[in-house]
Amino acid sequence: MAARVTDTAYRRHRRRLVEQLRSSGIDDLAVLHAFDVVPRHLFVPEPIRHRAYDDAALPLGHRQTISRPIVHALHLSLAGLGGTERALEIGTGSGFQTALLSRLVSHVFSIEKIPELGDLARQRLRALGIENVTLRVGDGSAGWAEHAPYHVILVGAAAPRVPDSLKSQLTEGGRLLIPVASDGGQKLVLVTRTEDGFEEAAVEDARFVPLLGEEGW
Ligand code: SAH
Repeated sequence: MAARVTDTAYRRHRRRLVEQLRSSGIDDLAVLHAFDVVPRHLFVPEPIRHRAYDDAALPLGHRQTISRPIVHALHLSLAGLGGTERALEIGTGSGFQTALLSRLVSHVFSIEKIPELGDLARQRLRALGIENVTLRVGDGSAGWAEHAPYHVILVGAAAPRVPDSLKSQLTEGGRLLIPVASDGGQKLVLVTRTEDGFEEAAVEDARFVPLLGEEGW
């Protein structure tokens, strides 16, 4: 019984977060719906579960954090998802964005460098019955060539530059969102593959943990 009361309380908090995202300018209904149904409290460590629906980044252990909901919401909106895409996520972390993505695209491939985080994410996604996700533990900084090309690539950690290997794994029209370190801090960069090359635009300031590995730091 107690568990049911708690679930109802979480549901109320989740609704409030969705309203907050909407008033912050998120107007992609599919993205808002994903936030309404994916239980963020199951993706954060138990002792801080009560803070799961604050619009805040929270510690995951291993010196990593789950991003603020508004950041995930913005990235997913910028990715312009229609439900049929193959998506690559680099930096599974908690698996929360993976779960959101699983509702917004056709299939998600996701790579996490830290085995403990990758294993936890796998357990969480399995417990929720999410099946259109393929996870791997390892260095994702050079992408996952085996399953390329992807319509969308989302990188959840900041790189020294945009890796060419990631660009080459995009479909024509495909989008890559990656935080890149610059003189003044970090910028979120949107790369779009066009018929004859790539377009790059810095869309906003960013604050992410470093992307480690071959094409990272
Ligand atoms: N969006 C995630 C948060 C990502 S935090 C969430 O919802 O929880 C960034 C993650 O990227 C961390 O878990 C970190 O371990 C991972 N990471 C850093 N470098 C990586 C690399 N080269 N390959 C795969 N994962 C990496």
